[in-house]
Amino acid sequence: MSFSREKFKLSVIVPCYNEQDVIGITYDRLLAVLENNRYDYEVLFIDDGSRDNTVSILEAKSEKNKDVLILSFSRNFGHQPAVSAGLSECTGDLAIIIDADLQDPPELFPEIIQTYFDSNCNVVYCVRKNREGVGFFKKMGYHFFYRMVNYMSDVELPLDSGDFRLLDRDVIDAYKKFGEKNKYVRGIIAWMGFKQVPFYYNRPGRAEGETKYSIKKLLALASTGMFYFSKKPLKLALSLGIIALTIGMILSAKVFYEKFTGNLDEVPGWASTILTMILFGGVQLITIGVLGEYLGNIFDEVRNRPEYIIRKRKK
Ligand code: UDP
Ligand code: MG
Repeated sequence: MSFSREKFKLSVIVPCYNEQDVIGITYDRLLAVLENNRYDYEVLFIDDGSRDNTVSILEAKSEKNKDVLILSFSRNFGHQPAVSAGLSECTGDLAIIIDADLQDPPELFPEIIQTYFDSNCNVVYCVRKNREGVGFFKKMGYHFFYRMVNYMSDVELPLDSGDFRLLDRDVIDAYKKFGEKNKYVRGIIAWMGFKQVPFYYNRPGRAEGETKYSIKKLLALASTGMFYFSKKPLKLALSLGIIALTIGMILSAKVFYEKFTGNLDEVPGWASTILTMILFGGVQLITIGVLGEYLGNIFDEVRNRPEYIIRKRKK
């Protein structure tokens, strides 16, 4: 480690998408925390193709501050590519990834940084003790999501932890070597190993504005977590096929037996025929669907398109 508790540079990575209602407050609260410290800092606001006044608000606020960088994407690429861009561009010894809506309170930075130095680790990942301002169904959805992705993944992902975390330079440099285009940031970081330590906090509700994670985007994230990150769905599809085949063989044995003992009802048996067709049809479709997901992901990787496009940089 070439830096110490007293002297280091912290990079703060803030992905923002249409956050005009909250970004001004976020900027003030963040800078109040950062300017109160002895360490150096830089803030990277990654504008993920916002179509509102997010960027103009940020530009006006940061006019005189050389430590604030605004990177604008050419369109909405998504939260994960925005985090990735931040990690690629940041220059600090340590980096903290936070949401723009103050659900990850910047006031926790000193405690998180202290946890990092006290435990001599590489990553401090923040775990939500509870979530305020989230409806019952969404809460259930998140609960199910984390457990499902965890079950499907080959790596142990910390439950109830998002991208709010501190990483050190070793981890950031290792992250930059990952070539995949569709990155599931928290999965990749968990996969890397190193020493990772949890930090528990109460997650407040969004300070202003509406969620930018639509159901579609949440499902896409879940899909990346499952199908991009693990081969377990393929194995499950195989198991499903084996179960279906076993049932099929038992049914065939029954049919053969009845045929040879002369007990086969030749005309009835409509119900069992239809049921078997539905069962096997379903299993085949699911299996093909799972294959399709992987094929689509391979297609994305083979095309080798950039993860995001930066339209404008402002320091
Ligand atoms: N975000 C983004 N691109 C998107 C969607 C969201 O950069 O396409 C950012 C958003 O501005 C916020 C963070 O990702 O800083 C988390 O989004 P949000 O708070 O809407 O998600 P939620 O907390 O409701 O899950
Ligand atoms: Mg939020």
